[in-house]
Amino acid sequence: MTSTATAETTPDTGLDHLEIQGVKKVFGENTAIARLDLSVRRGEFLSLLGPSGCGKTTLLRMIAGFEHPTNGHIYLDGKDIVGLPPHRRPVNTVFQSYLLFPHMNIADNIAYGLKQAKVPKPEIAQRVRDVLALVQMEDFAGRKPEQLSGGQQQRIALARALVNRPQVLLLDEPMSALDRKLREEMQLELKRLHTKLDTTFVFVTHDQDEALAMSDRIVVMYDGVIQQVGSGEDIYANPHNGFVAGFIGKQNFIPAEVTSTDGGTAQMVSANSTVMETPSLDLRPASAAGKAGTLSVGDRVRAAIRPERMRVAPAGEETGRPNTARGKVISTSFLGDVIQYMIVVGDNDELLARVPAAGNELLAADAEVDLSWDADAVAVYGFEGGA
Ligand code: ATP
Repeated sequence: MTSTATAETTPDTGLDHLEIQGVKKVFGENTAIARLDLSVRRGEFLSLLGPSGCGKTTLLRMIAGFEHPTNGHIYLDGKDIVGLPPHRRPVNTVFQSYLLFPHMNIADNIAYGLKQAKVPKPEIAQRVRDVLALVQMEDFAGRKPEQLSGGQQQRIALARALVNRPQVLLLDEPMSALDRKLREEMQLELKRLHTKLDTTFVFVTHDQDEALAMSDRIVVMYDGVIQQVGSGEDIYANPHNGFVAGFIGKQNFIPAEVTSTDGGTAQMVSANSTVMETPSLDLRPASAAGKAGTLSVGDRVRAAIRPERMRVAPAGEETGRPNTARGKVISTSFLGDVIQYMIVVGDNDELLARVPAAGNELLAADAEVDLSWDADAVAVYGFEGGA
């Protein structure tokens, strides 16, 4: 399929359910979305994840029809929907603010779109009942929105979108107004709903934990560009660039210089004389805009080690082997399942270590410790503007 496909394209084209091809969005001088391609599978839960301003809402609004792409095509079931107004697209959006009509009761709020579409009354009544059961809010049909809690209003906002039986449900940070506990409950609820329906979900969030908890695949975005697409596991274990490595999960980045590449093993040393060794010469770029490469002696790089790969022990005799460092605990946080230490190495390298709480004694602040990690825990990234 090429980007010259037209609205007459039939569904059996081998395209995924939702195909975004060569889409770009420019506001005046500002490129919100650089040329972007993305395939969304039928029935998948896909999250668009990235920091504020990365373009995720703009992309969602183009799928919904509230923004028009500067260039490119958006195919739903093989049909280009770019020319269709929002209400003609088989797509519904749940917004951050629930936008319920305050003067209407819950049943009327949910029925509103169906009434506008002139669906017969008995069918409306049945669909409203069904969708209220789906979101477990059957007993609330007669209430006004103000008589519901934030979480309950969120369920009604979902019901109001789902009652239209959209092929694609778009969710724009729908949980951000909820407190943490309620948000976690709603995440489970949304997953439960998703598994019951055939609907494709596209979910926008800046919260990596939320994306990891719910998604089949995550699209990590930064600066209007897709940085990586994959399952949470995949992105966490194998970040393609430094941006993804730092954005998903916690990460220690240690600036260092490559001192040896003998035998396919890279050795690096930090300003604090910490020696790191890794059994690979792969240099990953700082972001998707950079280029991957091969490490050579003299390169200035960032060695990355996940906090949970660090081992922490009271300071012993031995020091100076590669992939070890002597440090001092500057803070200790007991988080229930894990203990998190902030440890300073040398003058100013602050490293985060997370060790299982079970079977590990809690070390006090100021304790001298030995840090160590395995060579395969070390990945190497360039600097922005550098590699
Ligand atoms: P947030 O999490 O803060 O909502 P986001 O990733 O959803 O961020 P967008 O809202 O898509 O980001 O914005 C992407 C870029 O496009 C930003 O630089 C933003 O300022 C710009 N932008 C968005 N909408 C408009 C508009 N209507 N006019 C001009 N610039 C816009």
